[in-house]
This record gives sequence, structure tokens and C-alpha cells, in this order.
Amino acid sequence: MEFQELKDCRFDGSGHFKLDDYPTDVHVEKRLRPNFEALTEANTQRMAELQDRLYAEGREGVVVILQAMDAAGKDSTIKHVMSGINPQGVTVASFKQPSSEELAHDFLWRAVARLPRRGCIGLFNRSYYEDVLVVRVHDLQKTYRMPKRVLDTSKDDFFEQRYRQIRDFERYLWENGYRVLKIFLNVSSAEQRRRFLDRIDDESKNWKFSSSDVTERQLWPKYMEAYEQCIDRTATKEAPWYVVPADQKFYARWLVSEAIVRTLEACDPHYPELPAEQRDDLETARQGLLSETGGHDDRSERDATERENN
Ligand code: ATP
Ligand code: MG
Repeated sequence: MEFQELKDCRFDGSGHFKLDDYPTDVHVEKRLRPNFEALTEANTQRMAELQDRLYAEGREGVVVILQAMDAAGKDSTIKHVMSGINPQGVTVASFKQPSSEELAHDFLWRAVARLPRRGCIGLFNRSYYEDVLVVRVHDLQKTYRMPKRVLDTSKDDFFEQRYRQIRDFERYLWENGYRVLKIFLNVSSAEQRRRFLDRIDDESKNWKFSSSDVTERQLWPKYMEAYEQCIDRTATKEAPWYVVPADQKFYARWLVSEAIVRTLEACDPHYPELPAEQRDDLETARQGLLSETGGHDDRSERDATERENN
């Protein structure tokens, strides 16, 4: 399999999406792992710089959606990729099985409640996409308390409507100053099996294992079908999907870090420039502070470095 760049993982809705065209593994040689780790680290630093400006400017918000099968590495990707970022500008939301309160609302309700403010990055660990994935696979819509006119549509129509609602929602976000970055960590069934076995054999990983993970695994083909259709229907120019090969974690992390950096770069954030009258205020404040020591500037080199590190 050929080496993949970020653009090879991107699907923006042009043409027809086929999951088979997207590898789960590009077999990067083990010896190259440190190179990718270094690239990820460099991206993490770049992300921190960009995020600082995004936050200062407060103009555009970014929603990063991570979707994947169990054990594809969502949690560890979040941990690694976001490690350099100022926690003040990031929120992380995990979407689990909906509560009865959540189920009593429309399916986007709980996601709207977790949107970041503009200037911030909101990381969604799973998302409203579960409502066209797990719900579709398990026919959960049949259990919903909703009027007949909603439930009497065919299964296909029900989910086509939801895809449209998601596209509309993401367009609404775009038109309100947000970018939505959607990432599918594409792990193979064989690799998931190996990771489950590791979770069972390694005591420190036991807590991550749940027996329902194995029953869900039996539905693998249905999940893949649901992912394929959902990506096909919801990828747009403004909110494309990135289908990232996830069998090699170090490689997936690099690609995710690339996707986030490119998205932040597209926001092109700048530190706000003060208007002239506020710059005058700064000068007045400066003079005031200096006059406390009789006009003498007592900041030493060492102090300056220390202050800057804060
Ligand atoms: P971990 O890596 O720890 O297993 P996780 O994201 O799989 O993390 P879990 O608590 O194991 O977390 O699983 C959450 C479960 O909630 C998933 O199986 C997911 O499919 C399910 N879920 C999320 N949203 C919905 C929804 N809208 N309707 C039904 N189930 C949902
Ligand atoms: Mg799980």
C-alpha cells in the first residue's frame, strides 16, 4: 500500500464514497515511527500557536469530530494530539448512550449544548453521527417515542432525512462562524481483535474492555455499511470527512494532527490589533508604571524571559 498524505484521506462529497478505496493500514516501516512521532510533535506545537491566536481573536470556532469503532484509538489520539494545547481554549465532549432526558429531545440537542464558543476548539468523542450509525445498525429509531408521521417512513427515508438534517446543521454552523472537521479512524476488524485481546491480557487495560464490545464486533459489516453511507451523504466542501488509516496508531495520530493544523490554518487567526485610541491608553499606562520607579526601567533580561514563559 502506498504512503498516504492527508489529501488522500479527504472526501468532500465529490463523487461516490466507497470505504474499500480507503486503507486501514499503509504499512509504514517500524523504523520510520520516530520520524512520524517527531512530525506529530511539531504539529502539536504549531497547533498550540494557532490556537492561542484563535482564542485571542475569538472569531471562528472549530468542532473536531472523532468517530470510530471500539479500540480504534479515539481516546489516545485525543490525549496525544491535544497535549500541547491550552486547556482554556478546548472542550472535550463524549457522547455515550443518550439519557432519557436526551432521548426526549431532537437528536442534535445534546450536541448543540456542547458546541464550543467561537475562538475555541470543541472535540467531540463520538457525536451526533452515532444517530445515523449505532441507531441505524440496531434499528433504535423503532424504539423512539415520536409521532406516526415520523416513524411511518421507511428506514431508508428516515436516515436520508437525518443525513440531510446533519448537512443542514453543519452548513448552519459554517454560516455561523464554525468549521467542522470530521475524522473517521478507520481500523480493520483484525486489528480490533488484536487490541481487544491485549485489553484482556493486560491487567492495566482490563477496565477498557467491555463484553458488549465483542457483541458489537459481530455487527462489523453492518457498521461498515452504515459508515460508508453516512460518509457518502454527509461529506461536503465545507465539512469534509477524513478517513484515516488507523491500524498503526503513530501514523493515525500524525494524520489527525495534520488535519487539525490545516483546519486551524484555514481559519487564519491573528492576534487582534488594538484601535489607535486604545494604543494611546497603553502608552499612558506605560508612563504611569515607569513613573513609579522615577522613570527607570528595572526589567532585567532574566526577568523578561521568565515573564514571557508565563
Ligand atoms: P471506550 O473507548 O472507552 O469504549 P466509547 O466511546 O466506546 O469509549 P462507551 O461508553 O464504551 O464509550 O460507549 C458509548 C456507547 O454509546 C457506544 O457504543 C455508542 O455507540 C453509544 N452511543 C453513542 N451515542 C448514541 C446514540 N445516540 N444512541 C445510541 N447509542 C449511542
Ligand atoms: Mg466502548
